[in-house]
Amino acid sequence: MKISIGSDHGGFALKESLKPVLRGVAQVDDKGCDGSGPCDYPDFAAAVCEDVAEGAADFGVLVCTTGEGMTMSANRFDGVRAALCRTVADAKMARSHNNANVLVFGGGATAPAEAAEIAAAFFAEPFSGDERHVRRIAKIDRARRLAEFSALASADPEVHAAILAQVRQEDTEINLIASENTSSRAVREAAGSVLMNKYAEGYPAHRWYSGCGPVDAAEELARKRACELFGAEHANVQPHCGSAANMAVYFATIKPGDTIMSMSLDQGGHLSHGSPVNFSGKIYNIVPYTVDKDTEMLDYDAIERQALETKPKILLAGASAYPRAIDFRRIREICDKAGCLMVVDMAHIAGLVAGGAHESPVPYADFTTTTTHKTLGGPRGGMVLCKEKWAKALDSAVFPGMQGGPLENIIAAKAVCFREWMSPAKKGYAQKIVSNCKAMCKAVQDRGYRIVSGGTDNHLFLVDVKSSRGITGKEAAAALDAAGIVVNKNTIPYDTESPFRTSGIRVGTASVTTRGMGEAECAAIGGWIADVLDDISDTSVAARVKAQAAALVAGFPVP
Ligand SMILES: *Cc1c(COP(=O)(O)O)cnc(C)c1O
Repeated sequence: MKISIGSDHGGFALKESLKPVLRGVAQVDDKGCDGSGPCDYPDFAAAVCEDVAEGAADFGVLVCTTGEGMTMSANRFDGVRAALCRTVADAKMARSHNNANVLVFGGGATAPAEAAEIAAAFFAEPFSGDERHVRRIAKIDRARRLAEFSALASADPEVHAAILAQVRQEDTEINLIASENTSSRAVREAAGSVLMNKYAEGYPAHRWYSGCGPVDAAEELARKRACELFGAEHANVQPHCGSAANMAVYFATIKPGDTIMSMSLDQGGHLSHGSPVNFSGKIYNIVPYTVDKDTEMLDYDAIERQALETKPKILLAGASAYPRAIDFRRIREICDKAGCLMVVDMAHIAGLVAGGAHESPVPYADFTTTTTHKTLGGPRGGMVLCKEKWAKALDSAVFPGMQGGPLENIIAAKAVCFREWMSPAKKGYAQKIVSNCKAMCKAVQDRGYRIVSGGTDNHLFLVDVKSSRGITGKEAAAALDAAGIVVNKNTIPYDTESPFRTSGIRVGTASVTTRGMGEAECAAIGGWIADVLDDISDTSVAARVKAQAAALVAGFPVP
């Protein structure tokens, strides 16, 4: 057992008397003070609690005159539960009920012999592990979720209210938006960090402004980890979003008026792949490809014929609403035959690629672009991976080509996200997103709904609500929203409805999987979707499902 111990001047004498006692049961690391004069207790609380939070110490012991200041300081740290104990009974309860991991004394309140007894009781008492105590401790951690932006409560009550509303929504509704996920606390901390204060035009070690040491370190980590995670030769982590990542690739490689062959938006492609209302469609000559009318899947032979005929400079693969695996080896073959660049936009499936649940495009593609906030689960942002020979062209296309100062706080959060993917905790997660999606899809399909392409290989599926129940995607999404299930309306291939009404809804399982749900929960949700859509005018069903949805998500709290 390792114990980290600290005190201010008021607790110094008691700390010194406790050290030999504690050394009898543990390895003791003294963080100060050294008794040489008045000092500030939060400094020593921080030193000890950082050890406990990081796992460098199993327990902490803190002493100040009353113990109050140390307790207040210590309980600000994530993962720390500090208890001020004046009696042996206090110590036993703090361990068995609250699973306290920092023991606090008042040096002016507790005598050395008494303190030794209390400490012995504290370290001997195990946490009971009773369900009610586990539940209550989980609620302490939940309180932090609200506390993490509590400064806003007084500084800006209106923005605070908007954030609180999002918290409540996440706490009570089932999020099935296929392009969303639930970020980790660590990602949010980096994203909200002081790194946002820095201007850092340029790249690590080649910046236009002074003082970039800290942000260089963060961006270097992000680039290095991105390359490691995806097996890429070069990474640019500065694009502000996925659309900007695509823009960077076009700017680095082709000229206005050149031809890009890409999946059309109404078939599952993305705005930034050449929609006429987007910069991409205005600047470049777009040749859209489609899915096969019968199978609703990509027809690689047809794509090959079209590429040989239209001779694009770029063949772009990747989609926002395509439920099937994409054969990147085959796309490479087509690009080689047609003599064009292969660009893959893996925005939706990046997490599946990172976790090995979808074939990686990176070995095949000249460029791979992505967002970092969809299945990847990081901060809202973009990234481009490419072969080394394109590194310079890409980097100058991003800066100074199209962006100014990078968002170094977001880049740091990207680095955090990439590290999470390489941790054992993420093992099997990507596969679980897919198995959850298949389970939910099957539950809807079994109730007689037509699923686009007949099923799913990835994190999303599309329900043709028009042919199944004679309603539009817009109506279906609104009915589900009223029942606490959040999806989006989506065009389906060869849709006869306008993009504002649509014949389909898009359903994704990244967020519910992140929150810990499994196939049983996902199959139940699929059943509720069918319950609601069977008769969207039945408000009693909506009310029943809303209550069921809220009860379900309560068991899978947002981290
Ligand atoms: C979401 C998405 C993007 C772009 O996302 P931003 O909203 O610009 O971050 C790009 N490509 C595809 C395929 C997407 O699904």
